[in-house]
Amino acid sequence: MSYEAELTAADVKAKAKECGADIVGIAPMSRWEGTDKQHDPRYIFPDAKSMIVFGFRIPRGSLRGVEEGTHYLNYATMGYAALNSIYGPMVLWEMNRFMEDHGYEAVPMANVGGGEAVNPLTGNFRTGWSRPVRPGLPAPDVSVDFRVAAFLAGLGEFGYSRAFLTPEFGPRQRFAIMLTDAELDPDPIYTGHICDRCMECVKNCHGHAISPTETVKKVIGGVEVEWAKRDEMACSKAFREGGLKRELSPFEGSYPRKYGYGLAHEGSCGCIRACMVHLEERRKLTREFRAPFRKPGWKQWEIDHSKPYELPEEVVREYAGNIESHDAYTNYNINSNYGTKAAAGLVQDNSSSGGVA
Ligand code: SF4
Ligand code: SF4
Repeated sequence: MSYEAELTAADVKAKAKECGADIVGIAPMSRWEGTDKQHDPRYIFPDAKSMIVFGFRIPRGSLRGVEEGTHYLNYATMGYAALNSIYGPMVLWEMNRFMEDHGYEAVPMANVGGGEAVNPLTGNFRTGWSRPVRPGLPAPDVSVDFRVAAFLAGLGEFGYSRAFLTPEFGPRQRFAIMLTDAELDPDPIYTGHICDRCMECVKNCHGHAISPTETVKKVIGGVEVEWAKRDEMACSKAFREGGLKRELSPFEGSYPRKYGYGLAHEGSCGCIRACMVHLEERRKLTREFRAPFRKPGWKQWEIDHSKPYELPEEVVREYAGNIESHDAYTNYNINSNYGTKAAAGLVQDNSSSGGVA
């Protein structure tokens, strides 16, 4: 025998934490029963017995620059793309080696998207995109909803906004998945209630993408769940541009992309930030901070783009003779940075990264 002893769920979870996961849950593949073909991971690995779901916290501090209106790359990278495209895969590779060393096949799935036959934002089937390789199979790529996976693995619940809420971090995490032929003891589906229908997500959503009145009900893993009807296209546009009138974006022109992602100017104002603030204030989360995210009397600032752009006097004084058009930087960045990363395959298609926020 060239592999190590059988693994238990406890072994897998301990290793996942050692590798850098903050939370881990396990579901039997049978919990996907009832999912439509195009979203059913059992078509990706038919012999899989278990799905391991890893959660990685979004650093609260990665939202700070967006909150203050002074720095935007940090959330888009450290709080979003790098978690999905770099940190998650690093943990997945380590876990993959661990599973293989114990004789199990494991399919590592990062939340990066791009090849789905069903558009993850619109939910529409992409005609002319791909063909099933055999009759009865779904069209490639099958796409897995990472929030549904987290629910099936017992990590938390869907909030009213459809953001996934965990007892540890509320809406503040991203997920990666591993399908394996190891038969591991599953976690029960979470039956607690984190979301209290406070509607802070609705009030603070600058895309008006979360309906305050209309909801969607579904049965997932045999459990009825409900969340707000969402306008994903409105969310996507507002998230990238900083609200319907760009009121949360201080930028005048184009903005550079890092890891293929930089356009997160609305900064999940409702479904992550307002929700997080609310849950922290109500002490609903097990992970607490010494200081609140917002000071008493905090008020959301907004930019009025109908007013002409003006250089502040202090900038004119400080940079006299050294002021250039923003295009100089944008062109430099596209040519020297984004282009290099694209060539190295480090960019992703944001439109299919499994939704935004
Ligand atoms: S902001 Fe309130 S209503 Fe919205 S998901 Fe969070 S807890 Fe639920
Ligand atoms: S990311 Fe922003 S626009 Fe999209 S649902 Fe969340 S709060 Fe609304």
